[in-house]
Amino acid sequence: MLDARTVQLGAGAQAVRILGPAQQTLKRLGEARTGAAAASGTADAAAADAGTEDQVTRVRARRQLAAVLIDGLPRPGALLAEQLARLPLGLLLLRDDHPVDREDVAEGYPAAAVGHTRAVAVRRSCMRQNPEMTVLTCSEPPPQPPASPETAASGLPQEPVDIHVIFAVRAVDPTRLRAAAARARLVLPVVRAPEQWQIGPLLSRERGPCPQCLELYGTASDPHWTAAQAALAEQSPIDARSSLSEGDPGFAGHAAPAEEAAAAVVASLLAREIQLVIDGQFMPQTARRRIGLGAATGWLSLEPVTAHPECECRLRTPGPG
Ligand SMILES: [Zn+2]
Repeated sequence: MLDARTVQLGAGAQAVRILGPAQQTLKRLGEARTGAAAASGTADAAAADAGTEDQVTRVRARRQLAAVLIDGLPRPGALLAEQLARLPLGLLLLRDDHPVDREDVAEGYPAAAVGHTRAVAVRRSCMRQNPEMTVLTCSEPPPQPPASPETAASGLPQEPVDIHVIFAVRAVDPTRLRAAAARARLVLPVVRAPEQWQIGPLLSRERGPCPQCLELYGTASDPHWTAAQAALAEQSPIDARSSLSEGDPGFAGHAAPAEEAAAAVVASLLAREIQLVIDGQFMPQTARRRIGLGAATGWLSLEPVTAHPECECRLRTPGPG
């Protein structure tokens, strides 16, 4: 706890700061964990009874313990947050300091949210879905000092979240992916590319694929892949909006119906993937694949992405796959 209004999870350049009544935040975090511990204790006691009942209790406990960070809140991110609030989860963190503007309202943000950040607006709608849910907004991480890959890899801080969902336009900066993967247990990149949404693969530093796998695959086809991705990711979102929506009849005022439909599908796919990860009963699609969704056509594709044979993550977890 930094002061009466700030709680910091983790340390150093990759810390997450949660703004809000700090004492209350800590209490809620503690409650989520105690509640889950109590529930899993019940699960143990009931193990002799019906297996399904045991399973239900276990799933509930896992969800109560789970913490998800949604980093970036375009329309599908906002819809995803609302779906996760209904699941519900133990803790939902929202990060997007962008003020809600006219384009956001055209895409579905409430007009009353203008003047607030997207994170604050989405938190409100989540609380309407589920007033019991712990939903916190957190600010952008501080700018990162130039760190060598060695220090980034060795200084593994505590893990504040189970899944860090990153929404990006065109590409995710590989540095951002590495930083997220050093902290969260799993990282799920979601990219709005010109023609389609790209979901996954789910990145894990433990068993791969990991961010370095993606770089190894990328640089095999283009030696400048890493720099090119960083440059793509850096282009301003405003440019992105107009270039991505070029020739799109909805671009000037209202989101095209196809965009709205795609946002709903992306949010539902993501909610399902996250639920599968947390429940731990079945393997999610994105554990070994990237899902593509045609923004206009709704056409779905699945591209296999497994750990790179030369990546270190392979050495950490020997075995097939
Ligand atoms: Zn790897």
